[in-house]
Amino acid sequence: MKTVLNPQDYYRLPWTLNDNVLSWLEPTKRCNLYCEGCYSRNDKNSDKSLEQIRSDLDVFTSQRRVDSISVAGGDPLVHPDIVEIVRIIRHEYNLKPVLNTNGLALTPELLKDLKRAGVYGFTFHIDSSQSRPNWKGKNELELNDLRLHYAEMLAEVGGISANFNSTVFPHTLKYAPELLNWAREHIDIVHNMVFILFRTTIDSEFNYYAAGKKIDPGELVYYGEEKNPVRLTARDIVGTIRESDPDFEPCAYLGGTKDPQSFKWLLTGRVGDKDQIYGYVGKRFMELMQTGHHLLAGRYLAYSNTDALKHGRSLLLAMSPFDQGIRKAAKRYASTLLRSPGQLKSRLHFQSVVIIQPIDMMSDGQTNMCDGCPDITVHKGRLVWSCRLEEQLRYGCFLTAAPVRAHAEKEKQPAEKAPREIQPPITA
Ligand code: SF4
Repeated sequence: MKTVLNPQDYYRLPWTLNDNVLSWLEPTKRCNLYCEGCYSRNDKNSDKSLEQIRSDLDVFTSQRRVDSISVAGGDPLVHPDIVEIVRIIRHEYNLKPVLNTNGLALTPELLKDLKRAGVYGFTFHIDSSQSRPNWKGKNELELNDLRLHYAEMLAEVGGISANFNSTVFPHTLKYAPELLNWAREHIDIVHNMVFILFRTTIDSEFNYYAAGKKIDPGELVYYGEEKNPVRLTARDIVGTIRESDPDFEPCAYLGGTKDPQSFKWLLTGRVGDKDQIYGYVGKRFMELMQTGHHLLAGRYLAYSNTDALKHGRSLLLAMSPFDQGIRKAAKRYASTLLRSPGQLKSRLHFQSVVIIQPIDMMSDGQTNMCDGCPDITVHKGRLVWSCRLEEQLRYGCFLTAAPVRAHAEKEKQPAEKAPREIQPPITA
């Protein structure tokens, strides 16, 4: 049964093309691992010079207001100048550098250098699709030991945001509730969990075109419809989490560019300690956070300071008058304290959960992208979706799609030889 989530019940995040929380910098396409579903093609000669890095950052800052830069790739830690790149982002551009990495190249020494250079956070991509040396064949739960290793490394240095990404496949969906239990048990050192739905081309239903010319989708890194027999949505993840935690409640979202009912980014904020989650923040809280930060700092808020996240009790006290979700959490916390006053010794923390549903195809071949794409990157001086950068690199344009005849007949739409919509690259 489909989980019913109504966009009207949540806060629509105000992020847009030119006023957003993030931008996506790729200092290299090189990687020391292969992850199933990765949008990037590993390219040995792709390290950008510091001059190119500054030029990309100039494009972001001239065309877009942001709070943080996701330093991705490839794996950014394999770039020989990664420490200097972090320093440039933090100290020359006054932005928060957050490294999106598989963690393989992270040593305690490198971590200290990155901290000195001003790293704000890490997003570790760890999941069972990666064939990591020494972790092959481990399931999502067995990989929690590795996640904890990195969370503890960051905690030892202190003041660095610890975030964990995992790609969700139909066969790993069942682990989502347990992953959130693990995150709750380490709520003092794990600040954010991100679930990204696995996507591939859908070549049985669509033909793909580059500037009107049919292409072989087998050339794309995210080819392989047979690997993606069930096309999961953000609602499926929420439904699975609610089987274990019926109270699980998102507060904010980014919709789709074509389908207003889709949840492309779905955000949840929860308050708890290592033993239990007391409740979920509501839409007013997220609205106050985003608009308040924009009013005071001139930018929407991407990552919170790790010290602020430790003050869950102050959050309950200060925000209860404004937010229904927080009021409910405060009541539950108060009744727990009445029953077990010893619980007062445990700190309360704020932790977020993000679900990302990239690129959907509409039945007529239009692509439903994130409306206010945070992960936009630079290609030839222009802003482009990072999840489709490979199309630009390979074909010099974004691909378009049209339904193949059998599918079009099934959908009672005329089949087309050429795509209906020529989608221009995003430019600012
Ligand atoms: S449109 Fe693509 S690049 Fe942008 S946020 Fe969505 S998945 Fe990421």
